[in-house]
Amino acid sequence: MGKALIIGCGGVAGVAIHKCCQNSEVFEEICIASRTKSKCDALKAKLDGGRTKISTAKVDADNVEELIALMEAFKPDVVLNLALPYQDLTIMEACLATKTDYVDTANYEPPDTAKFEYKWQWAYRERFDKAGITALLGSGFDPGVTGVFSAYAQKHHFDEINEIDILDANAGDHGYPFATNFNPEINIREVSAKGSYWENGRWMETEPMEIKRVYNFPEIGPKDMYLLHHEELESLALNIRGIRKIRFFMTFGQSYLTHLKCLENVGMTSIEPIEYEGKKIVPLQFLKAVLPDPAALGPRTKGKTNIGCIFKGKKDGKEKNYYLYNVCDHEECYKEVGSQAISYTTGVPAMIGAMMLMTGKWKKPGVHNIEEFDPDPFMEELNKWGLPWQESFDPELVE
Ligand code: NDP
Repeated sequence: MGKALIIGCGGVAGVAIHKCCQNSEVFEEICIASRTKSKCDALKAKLDGGRTKISTAKVDADNVEELIALMEAFKPDVVLNLALPYQDLTIMEACLATKTDYVDTANYEPPDTAKFEYKWQWAYRERFDKAGITALLGSGFDPGVTGVFSAYAQKHHFDEINEIDILDANAGDHGYPFATNFNPEINIREVSAKGSYWENGRWMETEPMEIKRVYNFPEIGPKDMYLLHHEELESLALNIRGIRKIRFFMTFGQSYLTHLKCLENVGMTSIEPIEYEGKKIVPLQFLKAVLPDPAALGPRTKGKTNIGCIFKGKKDGKEKNYYLYNVCDHEECYKEVGSQAISYTTGVPAMIGAMMLMTGKWKKPGVHNIEEFDPDPFMEELNKWGLPWQESFDPELVE
């Protein structure tokens, strides 16, 4: 069918690339391009021999000219951005210059402020529309599948959805006292930021980890979970009919929170550069360098994740509740693609998002969040590619 350029070669990209190679009818050819080319070459060596043709390249995705040169040489049908959120805008610029469709899994963040907002990427709407190319924003799990679940619930189960609670549980145990499941810098920026939720057209702000609930997750059991700000709240608030309230909760164990508090108290999670032995360093980046590499957690992590959405709304004049979720097993993921479930649950939807654009099932010039597309083909592919979903019409609700 076509060619995809995959930028980044970390935890999430590793899974997406495995999945592209399993899906060689669509991904006939891929180029893996990242800052450290040796990682791309190592992955290619592992996956070569299948039907997908793989090449690799070194690219600095902060540099638009380099990106354009690579895209002009490889001529991809789609660019799948699995580098870091800091690179979103440069990669979108290069897509505009080469008229190439774009997919990512996380919204742009300026490196110097931990803000999760779509405004920088939404500012490209008109230019993408005029160029006749599609940008699909947030095709991971959350954001990503949570948006597809919302669109599916809206299409098939509700006349209007009034409330959404997104619940993200990780009951995996990697045996380390403290480690993050994906890029530590991005993860710690996210969880140490103030919480917020959307209610009656307004953002309500909370202190970090101020709101705690206990939820009895299917296949996992009861877990403490905390309200966080999360980027899909912003787009779902615009795209879901009748919506009045959206909250996002993530589970954290007490040991993780105690370590995080301590690191925060001593200044290790700060993104303000400090002077150290004549050199400027960012404490959080230094912390990343001493923490376990998320990719190294794969072989040691046991247990399951459960991520999903509880919807409350109306159908045919009656109140209705509906819960859609996926349960994923860390050890099964490791057996299949050599990584834990956090990268797996992001990498699979990233591949499917790219597939939706390459097959033309989703083609809508402009810049769009995932819930703006027809959810049905995506839901079908989730079942095929390792993230089957389950539903409940009588879920436990979150207070
Ligand atoms: P990693 O840190 O494991 O990987 C990032 C990759 O990007 C690395 O290969 C890195 O290169 C590369 N990279 C960084 N900067 C550049 C640059 N300037 N030019 C080229 N390559 C660069 O991160 P993850 O795989 O854990 O996360 C990838 C993305 O997925 C992030 O944006 C994250 O926010 C998002 N994510 C989304 C989720 C969702 O559900 N929506 C969940 C989890 C993650 P190098 O190897 O040299 O460091």
